[in-house]
Amino acid sequence: MAQIIDGKLVAAAVRQKAAALVERVKAAGVQPGLAVVLVGEDPASQSYVRMKERDCDEVGIRSLDYRRPADITQDELNEIIDRNNADPSVHGILVQLPLPAGFDEEAALERISPEKDADGLHPENMGRLVRGIRAARACTPWGVMAMLDHYGIDPAGKRAVVIGRSSIVGKPMALMLLERNATVTICHSRTADLAAVCREADILVAAVGRPKMVTAEFVKPGAVVIDVGINRTDEGLVGDVEFDAVEAIASWITPVPGGVGPMTRAMLLMNTAEAAARAAGLE
Ligand code: NDP
Repeated sequence: MAQIIDGKLVAAAVRQKAAALVERVKAAGVQPGLAVVLVGEDPASQSYVRMKERDCDEVGIRSLDYRRPADITQDELNEIIDRNNADPSVHGILVQLPLPAGFDEEAALERISPEKDADGLHPENMGRLVRGIRAARACTPWGVMAMLDHYGIDPAGKRAVVIGRSSIVGKPMALMLLERNATVTICHSRTADLAAVCREADILVAAVGRPKMVTAEFVKPGAVVIDVGINRTDEGLVGDVEFDAVEAIASWITPVPGGVGPMTRAMLLMNTAEAAARAAGLE
């Protein structure tokens, strides 16, 4: 039976680290601040934003709340981003995705100053990741790396397979594993014989968005299995991995919920705390 990688536990440890960094930043005379921008009334987004603001409170980051109706224009959204880019008391800016239909998400993310990129999704910071330069990092894959580190799972020399090639998860995940000396394969909807490729993996990351697609047939006995998927189904929230069957053969596995999800929020705090530390001249 696999051991469980407990996202809640690791996220709490990351929040503690973020809180300690916030304390140092405050001691240097800077109050870290995160601007949280929510456009529209999507209930899931509203609940994510509430949780993120609560997290900020817990670690001592001041959050500034910008809630706007879905009918604001892209120009109005740009104005909020520009204002916070120019505000020295703001160190991170988060635009909650997805934006309502009609908005250009790429343009919004690119408008955020790369120094204030709390989600780590700005193309400049993705470029820095490619080049191995320290900067804000995409929260979900960075959270996965923090989980591996917490449990002493070293990717060096291992075969890692990432299913999914999005800019938010799959691609930065592959780059972070590569940076840590794994031999990395990226799979996607056009990959031939997906299960066979996945069976090569010592570390298998599923970031697809298809409930329980990764069955035991995809998994080499003893592999580490990371389930990034969040799928809302009739049986509740499920991941991309058929948990019960895979748990029986993997060495480590993340549950859904309680796995990668809490890590994404924790890394947002870390990106913001680190941005504030840089602004305070500490890092
Ligand atoms: P995207 O839809 O942007 O990307 C999905 C990827 O999966 C694509 O690269 C797609 O391939 C690939 N794919 C789709 N179907 C198959 C298939 N049958 N076989 C192989 N590959 C396939 O999703 P995201 O990357 O944004 O998110 C992935 C999952 O992670 C979702 O469930 C999402 O909810 C979850 N998520 C969870 C987070 C967390 O905090 N835990 C944070 C962010 C996302 P192709 O490129 O060829 O289309």
